[in-house]
Amino acid sequence: MIRAMLGATALALAFAAHGQSDERKALAFEAVERNADSIATIGDRLYYYAELGMQEQESAKFLKETLEAIGFKVDLGGGGFPTNVWAQYGSGKPHIVIVTEIDALPEGSQTPGSIERKPLVKGAPGHMEGHNTHGAVAVGAAYAVKRVMERYKLPGTISISFGPAEEQLVSRPFLVRAGLFKDADAAILIHIGENFSTGYGLQNYAAISAKFTFHGKTAHGAVNPWEGRDAVDAVELMDMGFDKLREHLRPSQRAHRTITIGGIQPNIIPDLGQIWWFVRDANAPWAKENFDKLVNIARGAAMMTGTTMEMEIVASAWPQLGNRVIAEAIQKNIDAVGNPKWSEEEQKFARDFQSALGLKAVGLAPAPVKFGARPQSFASNDSGDVTWNVPAGNLNFPASVPGVNYHNWQAAVTPISSIAHKGEVAGAKVLAASLLDLLTSRELLDKAKAQFRDDTRDTPYFSFLPADAKPPLELNREMMERFRPEMRKHYLDRRPQFK
Ligand SMILES: [Zn+2]
Repeated sequence: MIRAMLGATALALAFAAHGQSDERKALAFEAVERNADSIATIGDRLYYYAELGMQEQESAKFLKETLEAIGFKVDLGGGGFPTNVWAQYGSGKPHIVIVTEIDALPEGSQTPGSIERKPLVKGAPGHMEGHNTHGAVAVGAAYAVKRVMERYKLPGTISISFGPAEEQLVSRPFLVRAGLFKDADAAILIHIGENFSTGYGLQNYAAISAKFTFHGKTAHGAVNPWEGRDAVDAVELMDMGFDKLREHLRPSQRAHRTITIGGIQPNIIPDLGQIWWFVRDANAPWAKENFDKLVNIARGAAMMTGTTMEMEIVASAWPQLGNRVIAEAIQKNIDAVGNPKWSEEEQKFARDFQSALGLKAVGLAPAPVKFGARPQSFASNDSGDVTWNVPAGNLNFPASVPGVNYHNWQAAVTPISSIAHKGEVAGAKVLAASLLDLLTSRELLDKAKAQFRDDTRDTPYFSFLPADAKPPLELNREMMERFRPEMRKHYLDRRPQFK
């Protein structure tokens, strides 16, 4: 702890030339370091809750209690989502929002620290993308900023938005539609990474996920098939139709599907068939264009087979738009804070882990990603919808082992390790400093808003959601209720104590 305090003092001296703003940041860094244990505890508790999207009840309750204890006003249930968490401190303008998520993934349960496959609870969900660290970083940074706001009597509002069910791209289009971000002046999206990075422009892909259900008429496959109307024929024709279309789509597109209802047995003409599609492209208008063509193909398939078709949009996301002005501010803070000092033990663990997975044993990230060196990713995150409504920066913080892919149980090995804990502290510092920049520099905020107007001029936001779309409250409920009693035995009996 003494060494950590000296670190903050050294940083304060390094910052001395920049005056008041850096004094405030140094104070925030001290608050983060002083509370490193509490920050780690938040991430660790969330890890053991490991709740799937829409079922983040324990996680939401815990975050509410934790944030209320440090003086935030917390609202659960916004946008019609029982597990939506919105925490707020301060009042008036500017209003800066931290945007993140805390949901886990199915079958990700794993014994932390074990490189061998060893689920804590067999078949249960687990944090195999490390979203548990997001809660730690967001709360740690928000607390530090609050302390600075109190000390310097800074005006403005800091909010944290924990949006439900990111893994299924569910809540943000609804939260935007409900107007939760309409008073926000800027946002910072945070996510775990294998290194520090930020970026500008299109950061990932637009996606629309939809289920197409065909209804036909059943008949005996041999006795009277001419009386049947085959719903699975419609599913197949839709699949073939899209394959014909692929050639005429932009090379940037991605589309993938799975047949979710494919009949019962060959001699029963199926009266029900269903196919679930993800359609993606490099920007939202292109994804929508591809999707509209897919809907037409579904209509054609229904017409060809004499069936009827129902379409349900399950989820959607705009690509994250990184605001260059905010990204530049974040990068300066990344460069000032730098990557965590990894111990030899941590490096050895990382190399052993990488070797065990057949990866190059490069160890942990030594230095942040250079500005502008982050390519557009093909994945999607529904927080993208926020970024077309509010000027937003992205922050990935180094809290996982390079090369270990998320959405695999291996990624659940380290999210409560000392590697994750150090990454959380570093991430909270950069986040706190970036929030302070946005909170205290009118000029920065004005520039970010001008950049936002430029970026969105030709692509005004529209919602992918149908007007009558409602939050899918039952999503993952059955699975979560099945596993929670066993998972409860592993819950962490420790609480953060911020000071
Ligand atoms: Zn994620």
